Amino acid sequence: MYLWFRGHRGNKCCPLVNAQSILPSAFYMCCLLGPAVIDGHQREDGTVEYLSTDDLRRCLHARTKLVEANVAIAFRMFAGHVSIGCKDIKTCERALRESRRALRTSYRAVASYHVLQSWKHWIADQDAEVEFCDRCETMLFARDVEERRNIWKTLPSIMGLHNWKAIMDESGVD
Ligand SMILES: [Zn+2]
Repeated sequence: MYLWFRGHRGNKCCPLVNAQSILPSAFYMCCLLGPAVIDGHQREDGTVEYLSTDDLRRCLHARTKLVEANVAIAFRMFAGHVSIGCKDIKTCERALRESRRALRTSYRAVASYHVLQSWKHWIADQDAEVEFCDRCETMLFARDVEERRNIWKTLPSIMGLHNWKAIMDESGVD
């Protein structure tokens, strides 16, 4: 299989040949391309390589799942209560409420495919009057990392790679 995706910077395309272990990430990058994924990747010799119909179908299914996962993460990020040892419970509770309120009108951030993107700026860039104390900020930063770690683990499933464990066992990659 010759799978490709565009690099984070510019439009340089990175061909990935038989690199099974990066399949979930590669499909994820394809999902982030949006409709451009249909345009294919032009090789140096001018020929254009397209994703197979099955892989395009996989991306379309995955995009819906990515949005669902991101919505769930967004609302979990600021759910619950202040941290144990919070230095200013009243202000931090207000900051949590304000964050949840802001999410309700931030459609782009919530309904996004970018499930591996950090919420750190949401946590740290609070209004000065309602910013989190350092204990709550630390709790939320840890939650942010944990959410992304969990989504990383489920990426093969989101991408429809249901035989992922067998693929990895076969390739000998840990
Ligand atoms: Zn606090």
